[in-house]
Amino acid sequence: MAYVISDGCISCGSCAAQCPVSAISQGDAQYVIDADTCIDCGSCAAQCPVSAISQG
Ligand code: SF4
Ligand code: SF4
Repeated sequence: MAYVISDGCISCGSCAAQCPVSAISQGDAQYVIDADTCIDCGSCAAQCPVSAISQG
């Protein structure tokens, strides 16, 4: 199960900078995680200031 970003995302970009496999990119309304690329390391969830990332 990949990690997912909820609509609580404020598009700060911290998670994208943290991801070791560059699975996170800026989408239309918020940042999004590519489920096929994510290796479930959890770094992004620990980094998010508004706790918008959880394991899907
Ligand atoms: S869990 Fe790890 S690999 Fe997956 S999106 Fe977050 S930082 Fe990237
Ligand atoms: S760290 Fe959280 S608030 Fe910032 S872009 Fe990522 S999901 Fe959005």
